[in-house]
Amino acid sequence: MIFDIVFIGAGASSLMAASLLKNHSIALVDSSSKIAPKIKISGGGRCNFTNKIISSDNFLGDKELLDKTFKSYDNSDLLKFFKKYNLEYNLKDNQKYFCKNSSSDILDIFSKQIRHCSLFLNHTVMDVEFDRCFIVETDKKTTIKAKKLVVASGGLSYASLGASDIGYKIAKKFGHTIKTTSPALVGFTLQKEQFWMKNLSGISCRVALHVEDEIFIDDLLFAHKGISGPAVLNASLYWRRGVVSIDFLPKVNVVKLLEKKSKKQISSLLPLPKRFVKEYLKSINLDDVAIDRLSKSQKEKLYELNHYIFAPAGNFGYTKAEVTKGGIDTNDINHLSFESSLQKNLYFIGEVLDVTGELGGYNLQWAFSSAVVMSKNMECDK
Ligand SMILES: Cc1cc2nc3c(=O)[nH]c(=O)nc-3n(C[C@H](O)[C@H](O)[C@H](O)COP(=O)(O)OP(=O)(O)OC[C@H]3O[C@@H](n4cnc5c(N)ncnc54)[C@H](O)[C@@H]3O)c2cc1C
Repeated sequence: MIFDIVFIGAGASSLMAASLLKNHSIALVDSSSKIAPKIKISGGGRCNFTNKIISSDNFLGDKELLDKTFKSYDNSDLLKFFKKYNLEYNLKDNQKYFCKNSSSDILDIFSKQIRHCSLFLNHTVMDVEFDRCFIVETDKKTTIKAKKLVVASGGLSYASLGASDIGYKIAKKFGHTIKTTSPALVGFTLQKEQFWMKNLSGISCRVALHVEDEIFIDDLLFAHKGISGPAVLNASLYWRRGVVSIDFLPKVNVVKLLEKKSKKQISSLLPLPKRFVKEYLKSINLDDVAIDRLSKSQKEKLYELNHYIFAPAGNFGYTKAEVTKGGIDTNDINHLSFESSLQKNLYFIGEVLDVTGELGGYNLQWAFSSAVVMSKNMECDK
């Protein structure tokens, strides 16, 4: 049998596209034993599927492609889609949309919407050939043939959930360029000078984190192996191996605070967790003395709390990264149909492309939006 369309991956973007393409014979091939394992664990099990404000400014990638795609299908369209299937959801921090109960609710919706598809789960795609039609080869020695091939195999993060480089391999085979990939939305590891932070594992504080031209005002979480939390994860998207600057007291001007005469000890005056102050003071060789006893140079060391500059050693890698930065160059993708401009009937959607969003539901919105735009175009083509 030759299917109309074969999807590599049964993740977020494939499920959305397949559920819209009802009048086609479809094969969904995934190495996992269940559909969309990333949706299941996303947003801490409640899937942050979109954001109140969707803009190309929240993404790395081709702004024109992003704007065009969101103009065709944005957050309000996605909310309408889920409302139609009675998904219960909540708005968190007046910004992020999460499932009210569990991300399984989204998987249940898609499971019902893809009943017309043939599912090849536990099938790892090894290679693809083209000989009048696409021939997908799997580890089970099955070959699946189709007129159209949609590569929706996602990025490299979380190999434990089925991630692989197959999308990039196929793209290269058909002449596409891959923009350098790296882990993103991931914690930073530290240089020796910042090892004092490791003693704060479990503590979090609100910071303003400056990286390149971006500022993220959000929580920073001190972790066993480095720093994490929303501010750091977002910073990792823009970080290019240079320095970052952390304002540990974004609402307090430390210079002004220390101008006043005070008998209070440093740890009592600074509105920061006591454990943090203790470790910070140790790292700058300063005792927890009264403010009145501080010398000018000692005060200057404390001013750095408003702009603590350092270069992260690296990041926690693909095993912990929520997404992969980089991917298939979108210059060789038709921006209206997501079809390859190098090979007819070959399509790429979702995270496998060189488009990466910030934390907050942006990556799933991209996966869904690119899928819808491609599907609508395929329907028009039929
Ligand atoms: C822990 C975690 C939490 C996240 N939380 C959020 C969140 O709350 N909000 C948000 O917007 N984004 C979140 N993301 C990111 C989001 O899940 C992805 O960006 C999104 O799922 C990408 O959709 P996709 O369809 O492109 O790829 P995926 O959903 O990753 O689907 C790709 C599929 O391809 C399959 N595959 C890969 N290689 C092969 C192969 N060789 N053979 C067969 N199948 C293969 C995989 O098993 C997978 O099922 C999170 C990611 C992680 C890892």
